[in-house]
Amino acid sequence: MSTTPTHTTLRRALPGRFLLPGDAGWDAARQAWNLAADQQPVAVAVPTTPKEVAAVVTAARERGLRITAQTTGHAAAALADLHDTVLLKTADLNGVHIDPQARQARIGAGTLWIEVAEPAAEHGLAALAGSSPDVGVAGYTLGGGLSWLARKHGLACNRLLAAEAVTADGDLIRADPGHEPDLFWALRGGGGSFAVVTALEFELLPIPRIYAGGLFWPWERAGEVLHAWNTWQATAPEEITSSARILHLPEPAAPLPGRSVVNIDAAVLGDQRFGEQVLAPLRGLAPGLDTFAMVAPAALSRLHLDPEQPVPVISDHRLFGELPPAGIDALVQTAGPGSGSRLVTVELRQLGAALARPTPGSGALTSIDATFALIAGGIADRPETGAAVAEDLERLTGAMRPWDTGRRYLNFAEGPAEASTLFPPETYLRLRRVKAQVDPGDVIRSHHPIPPTP
Ligand SMILES: Cc1cc2nc3c(=O)[nH]c(=O)nc-3n(C[C@H](O)[C@H](O)[C@H](O)COP(=O)(O)OP(=O)(O)OC[C@H]3O[C@@H](n4cnc5c(N)ncnc54)[C@H](O)[C@@H]3O)c2cc1C
Repeated sequence: MSTTPTHTTLRRALPGRFLLPGDAGWDAARQAWNLAADQQPVAVAVPTTPKEVAAVVTAARERGLRITAQTTGHAAAALADLHDTVLLKTADLNGVHIDPQARQARIGAGTLWIEVAEPAAEHGLAALAGSSPDVGVAGYTLGGGLSWLARKHGLACNRLLAAEAVTADGDLIRADPGHEPDLFWALRGGGGSFAVVTALEFELLPIPRIYAGGLFWPWERAGEVLHAWNTWQATAPEEITSSARILHLPEPAAPLPGRSVVNIDAAVLGDQRFGEQVLAPLRGLAPGLDTFAMVAPAALSRLHLDPEQPVPVISDHRLFGELPPAGIDALVQTAGPGSGSRLVTVELRQLGAALARPTPGSGALTSIDATFALIAGGIADRPETGAAVAEDLERLTGAMRPWDTGRRYLNFAEGPAEASTLFPPETYLRLRRVKAQVDPGDVIRSHHPIPPTP
């Protein structure tokens, strides 16, 4: 692509921190964690300070361009066409400060979860981190944040104490309960449509050790194990958050001989005795591998065996209320042994308890009105494999349609989603009004954009 006057003036706005098509390193700069996303923005900016972020936002806006912030690109497949958009990568806005006395963390917007979980654990503290060590704290928190402690402690976004950000006007602001309260509300679960976040401050919890691990069986037992888990989870205490899935891993990483397992992961807040008591019915199913132990909370970042390097992936999700035995049967028939499914993972994550209770004073995402999240995906390293995964996702979500609540969870919506399905109607309207206040020109765009009210 040839360099246009717009490109030249963008480059002048922040010398050395803008990459343009044709520059050396352009392909690496535009690359997302999800290698299946082919991002083609106008330019990529990599600012190192909030002032530089403001310069990028102002330069883009003045040239009629839009801005999208990206920490890692885990959710990049959901971003629409970027032909009029500057991709602002936050990777160099780093810095993690843990205050053990106040039990708080302050992080730069480019921080990954493992970079918080490990130093926090050194002080006996835990964050409401997600299952993957290399998901960005900012994207995860702005979208809600379902952690291994979620059924006891709710969504991560509601532990946010303050956000520093650059608005569409290029102003550096701090949003907290006493400043910019509407923006602070929207940032807690409403996603990345409202401002470019440069730093976050949030609560940490005093949890020095936790009982956590995984149980694994050969996948031929998928039906039996998933039915037992479904019955067990219905009366499990809120101190436990668990997930059950059918998983196919490449040979070196596979936990049992053969690539295919049915697996239950869980974290139990409490001591070993309590954990053993709670898990006894599942252990009664004689798993082939049992990794449960008392661990530091940082170990939760690797409990789920999520990939730690970029991969090409296509995924989809659904939220369910109760799942009767017929729901488990439908899932196993579509994704279990003999189904021919090419999905690498088909997971049911346990929700409910604190997650289902609206929290007074919370942000836009106060709770999730569902009992399970279904998350499924596969590797899309070639057009044919991508098509096969998409076909199997369609088959799975079609079979599970009778139990689909129709609502979606922003963080698990890794493809395009209708934003009105991510929130209750009154919340969605309020988010649109906040967007109209802070960014009426719709300069800042998220992977799930909230349009301003006219
Ligand atoms: C392997 C894996 C495991 C996961 N596990 C969990 C889990 O356990 N719980 C859970 O809740 N989610 C989970 N997720 C989903 C994850 O939380 C979302 O994909 C999230 O959006 C990723 O954030 P990111 O910053 O890494 O991604 P990005 O793609 O970089 O960002 C996603 C979006 O967040 C917004 N954003 C990011 N940074 C900023 C910023 N500085 N300012 C303004 N907006 C910003 C933008 O709108 C951006 O499009 C998982 C995803 C994967 C791939």
